[in-house]
Amino acid sequence: MHEFDLSSAIVATVNKHAEGRRVTHVTLRIGRLRQVVKDTLEFYLAIVGKDTPCEGATLEIIDVPAVLVCDTCQNEWQIEIPAFICGTCGPGAVEVKTGEEFMVESIEVEDEEDAACTAPR
Ligand SMILES: [Zn+2]
Repeated sequence: MHEFDLSSAIVATVNKHAEGRRVTHVTLRIGRLRQVVKDTLEFYLAIVGKDTPCEGATLEIIDVPAVLVCDTCQNEWQIEIPAFICGTCGPGAVEVKTGEEFMVESIEVEDEEDAACTAPR
């Protein structure tokens, strides 16, 4: 998925929840398997968010490590690069436990200090 498409989705979600209020801060939760380049994402967010309540909002990204779990032995491990083989059992069924997240965790808006809301997942 390209950063530009992700940016459009983020801005749409944030603006919906902002309900017209000015957004000052956006927190995103992004799994490492998404392989999102933060600088690129910020670049596109600035473009897509221009002239919307998102304009000028600061961005925070929560980086979620990629954790796999083996179906056979429940072994869990973190990966830096996509390599889906259990170190104990070898090739077999594994599940991605975390690492595919891509969500707006919360936003902060002007005027109401406690208005930070969590977007539906
Ligand atoms: Zn295993």
